[in-house]
Amino acid sequence: MTHVLVTGGAGYIGSHACKALAARGFIPVCFDNLSTGWAQAVKYGPFVQGDLLDRAALDAAFAEYQPVAVMHFAAFSLVGEAMSNPGKYWRNNVLGSLNLVEAAVDAGCKQFVFSSTCATYGEQDGVLLTEDSAQLPINAYGSTKRAVEEILRDFRASDELRTVIFRYFNVAGSDPAGEIGEHHRPETHLIPVMLEAIDGQRPELVIYGTDYDTPDGTCVRDYVHVVDLVEAHILGLEWLLEGKESRVFNLGTGCGFTVNEVITHARAATGQKVPHRFGPRRGGDAASLVSGSHRALSELGWDPTRSSLKVMISDAWTWHKTGGYSG
Ligand code: UDP
Repeated sequence: MTHVLVTGGAGYIGSHACKALAARGFIPVCFDNLSTGWAQAVKYGPFVQGDLLDRAALDAAFAEYQPVAVMHFAAFSLVGEAMSNPGKYWRNNVLGSLNLVEAAVDAGCKQFVFSSTCATYGEQDGVLLTEDSAQLPINAYGSTKRAVEEILRDFRASDELRTVIFRYFNVAGSDPAGEIGEHHRPETHLIPVMLEAIDGQRPELVIYGTDYDTPDGTCVRDYVHVVDLVEAHILGLEWLLEGKESRVFNLGTGCGFTVNEVITHARAATGQKVPHRFGPRRGGDAASLVSGSHRALSELGWDPTRSSLKVMISDAWTWHKTGGYSG
């Protein structure tokens, strides 16, 4: 059986990746320190509770499971927190990733799939972003992800690693079967915050900024369903296992929605009003982040069929109503 080491496998995207890997006959080995993940989300393979800054724990995991590839999701990923605590982001996201890359190389594990982000592109005045767009991050989260991309580039140059880098746009939705889902404490992401406001778990959604240069003044984002996103990871893994060249792929649909438009869709999907008010901008937010690339579709054969706002919000709502993980 073929093992894949999945860092952050107890988290939102990593747990969905583990489910997709298991469905394809791989054994996902979840490596997670549970700082933001949930033991209850580890359902599809062995669990190693460990930290990326602990090189011995990484070496032991590679030695025990001999994974054919790494999928690296573990990272802190909140724009607001990254602005107020950049050291936490650089230490965990960059030093942790360097440890992981070195452990993989030393173990002879050459295939590496990395979660990067459209936040590496920064603020580019509403243009559609492609993999060749300049990477000029405006927040520490994007800076740390760009730094890891550079680490991977340098290891690639010495033929020690082959990589597929995915630059995600805004990931949303949850497993339609309701086995796993998005659950952060505290929750800061738009769609789950909206759902919490709908069912009274918070008084309202605060819309961060109404004076952006966008159609209605609120930020524009390109939302992609987590199930579609992890399917791309399977295709990326297969790409590497077939011996193809290292490659970067955007993962977005190419359709941008303002925060107000997402609220309108949430009302339609749930049949309920979204209590909200307008607030100031959040530091580090770009006005617009929308993918202008078809590379994942044309080269990987990616087909993001669940990535309409209607389906993403409905799936998130189904999960939300389960109450999520406890503890
Ligand atoms: N947003 C908002 N209120 C919230 C959370 C998010 O207005 O309580 C906006 C945020 O400014 C951004 C978009 O919703 O324009 C998506 O934010 P999220 O935190 O979900 O993802 P990010 O774009 O930071 O990765």
